[in-house]
Amino acid sequence: MLSDSTKDRKPDPLMGRGMLVVVSSPSGGGKGTLIDRVLKTVPGVSYSISYTTRAPRGTEQNGREYFFVDRPAFEAMIEHGEFLEWADVYGHLYGTNAEQVERERAAGRDIILEIDVQGAASIRAKVPDSVSVFILPPSFELLRERLVARNTDSVADLERRMNGAPSEVEQYQFFDYVVLNDDINRASQQLAAVIYAERARRERQESVLRETLEDFGVVSEPGAVATGSETHRGSE
Ligand code: 5GP
Repeated sequence: MLSDSTKDRKPDPLMGRGMLVVVSSPSGGGKGTLIDRVLKTVPGVSYSISYTTRAPRGTEQNGREYFFVDRPAFEAMIEHGEFLEWADVYGHLYGTNAEQVERERAAGRDIILEIDVQGAASIRAKVPDSVSVFILPPSFELLRERLVARNTDSVADLERRMNGAPSEVEQYQFFDYVVLNDDINRASQQLAAVIYAERARRERQESVLRETLEDFGVVSEPGAVATGSETHRGSE
């Protein structure tokens, strides 16, 4: 999932601490393809490689799509507090490595977490400045077609995922943004636009803009709103 070109990209010097971007959708919602596009087109974004107890599918490789571990190893990681969040999704355990996320954010890179709706809820509670995006498949029928076309799940697994989809979609209301995945180009551009817009938020830029603001005689205080005349240096 993490393309080589993305891994080597340098962080933008204008960026402070990287953002945490949660992307969720029902299984088969096509978020993987969308995220791949964004990783290739938006500089300074990386991807969190989760740990999972499920077996690799198709061409999946350990350390690329996931770190595949057995249940005792996963449970030991829980015990050692190595996960920022973890959840049981359709009978398998999935978790986000806290250190991986912290390393990327500290380096000024935004990091995308492709996680389920339970994980998204945990991140919202734990990381208030995170951004969450729900990817909505255009129809239930299309979701089914995608899952069938993937052809890597057992029939029971496929049914579990289909049955779980409505309650996952119901969670859309708790996300900051919703991207309708009806067209891959449009949807990936919209996801990229969310990242660009969130980067431009005043609160995210206060520390990096301080020097420039001070040059104008403006003292920026965290959370403060500059209000015009008193922020000007003398009369013009
Ligand atoms: P799949 O088995 O299809 O790769 O993933 C099943 C579900 O688990 C997807 O909704 C995926 O986003 C989610 N998932 C993947 N990694 C994580 C993780 O680290 N934490 C949580 N909570 N969900 C994850």
